[in-house]
Amino acid sequence: MTRRTVIAVSSCLLGTPCRYDGGSKPVEWVQALADECVLLPICPEMLAGMGVPRPPIEHHRRHGSWRVETPTGEDKMRHLAAASQKILHWCTSVGAAGALLKERSPSCGVNTIHADGALVKGRGVTANRLVRAGIPSFSEEQREQFLSWLGARTATSEPKEQPND
Ligand code: SF4
Repeated sequence: MTRRTVIAVSSCLLGTPCRYDGGSKPVEWVQALADECVLLPICPEMLAGMGVPRPPIEHHRRHGSWRVETPTGEDKMRHLAAASQKILHWCTSVGAAGALLKERSPSCGVNTIHADGALVKGRGVTANRLVRAGIPSFSEEQREQFLSWLGARTATSEPKEQPND
């Protein structure tokens, strides 16, 4: 029996109302992946105990190091780093092959995040943890790249037909 590929997915992309404002960001093609993959829903900010609703957070560079601050200046970096480490542990425990994460989030953004009031190139705290651990990570805006990666992975992991089959 072929083992289905496990993919960690930002929970809000699957329709879970876990965003700071109580909303979600469901994406149809991401939800449809459940037909062929095992999806591992993750929400770093919920895991960090920030609750719903919660103040929005954003990266700020202060005295040479990055903080992830609420509008009142409370730094959530330590909580998010701990949550990201737990998520990495879950991913390695279940053998997650990759991650599909919400772009522009301070936790999940893969290519862009908001920092110091602007949209900049960069990774959210959890995306950065997963990428640095070698887990291929894509955003919901990288549909083609993700599907191409998944297809190539599936092709190489499928058992080869034997001559006498
Ligand atoms: S982007 Fe990430 S942290 Fe934000 S709500 Fe979605 S899953 Fe949670």
